[in-house]
Amino acid sequence: MNRFRTSWDRRKFLLAAGLASTVGSLRPNNLYGAYLADKHGESYRALGVRPLINAAGTYTTLTGSVMSAEVRDAMAEASRYFVPLIDLQLAVGERIAKMIGAEAAMVSCGAASAITLATAACITEGDPDKVRLLPDTAGMKNEVIMVKSHRMGFDHAARAAGGKIIEVETPEELEKAINEKTAMLFFVHIFEHRGKINRNHFIAAGKRHNVPVFNDAAAELPPATNLTAILGEGFDLVGFSGGKGMRGPQASGLLIGRKKLIEAAHKNNNPHSDTIGRTMKVGKEEIMGLLKAVEIYHKRDHDHDQVQWRGFMERIATMVNEVPSIDTEVYIPGPGGHPLPYLRVKWDQRKVGLTYAECFKKLQDGEPRIDVNNKDTGLELASYNLFPGEERIVGMRMREILLAAAKRA
Ligand SMILES: *Cc1c(COP(=O)(O)O)cnc(C)c1O
Repeated sequence: MNRFRTSWDRRKFLLAAGLASTVGSLRPNNLYGAYLADKHGESYRALGVRPLINAAGTYTTLTGSVMSAEVRDAMAEASRYFVPLIDLQLAVGERIAKMIGAEAAMVSCGAASAITLATAACITEGDPDKVRLLPDTAGMKNEVIMVKSHRMGFDHAARAAGGKIIEVETPEELEKAINEKTAMLFFVHIFEHRGKINRNHFIAAGKRHNVPVFNDAAAELPPATNLTAILGEGFDLVGFSGGKGMRGPQASGLLIGRKKLIEAAHKNNNPHSDTIGRTMKVGKEEIMGLLKAVEIYHKRDHDHDQVQWRGFMERIATMVNEVPSIDTEVYIPGPGGHPLPYLRVKWDQRKVGLTYAECFKKLQDGEPRIDVNNKDTGLELASYNLFPGEERIVGMRMREILLAAAKRA
């Protein structure tokens, strides 16, 4: 095993970073060195896939988030024994529900799977004959009402269960659209600001017509309060991604809500065969990993996280600001964004002779690879997935790229 091998490029980089002393002593008692070694990702490199420093965000395509050691341990421990999977699903669901004050909970294979299972639950109401037929919903109530501006790639997950999406744009249209074929109202938390229909309209309409209301809150942690607050507002079902804000296994999600609906979702879920959910298997490792992640998230000091994240962004800003004519702003996004510190770095692209896209590419192509968001308004960095120390590497590399361009200009 050659995890601790240091490539020439990497050594050169660490020398430049003033971190060379850690290279020669990658021992467990050198926390930063051990961390770098651990982050080195040799097994990925052996495949020609380069691991990265994630200053972009909890994007599934960049593998969401990184699990804590406790979650990794919980998964490894779970992997060693046989267990009746249905019993485990039910027991963990009960434990999580109790912890966060929900009527019921279920571990799914990601938030997208939570959408499919919520839809399947609302369409079938657990009727075994209907469960077997999905996604064929002929003769069943199968209409799923969405705000038009909430449509997104992930609504495929509702269609996958046989849901037929009905679009509405105003509270009046919502009221008119509900009929005896309506199975579910489907709200997307992050898009609330986009439409004329807010969460209260949706919840009230569901209550008036006795139709379950689902909220896709996949990436809405933080704020940590959302884990309980969204359900408390009156939604019947809420879905979260396990592998984003909660830092659980990437292939896990959480569906919480009314007991009857979660029971119906469970009947559509694996390991039951002949169900729509059988293709979205959740293993014992993911179930135990997510349980641990929820436990940790529930009792975590979230204020401390915010302070640390702001520190990351401010340190990068200070380093980048050493280059003349670079503007930086540490900010917390408003509606439609995630409430945690971000950093915007912008400059006059013509004057500096470097476009945002070129800088973005240099960051990706360098060693270590660094991912940020390339926007029209500048480069945007998210603090959430940075580990202590990585902000120095990001700041240094950005300063280096910008300084070189500024010198040429
Ligand atoms: C990420 C995301 C999902 C899917 O989450 P997974 O856990 O990757 O399945 C669904 N909906 C929204 C709004 C998301 O941001």
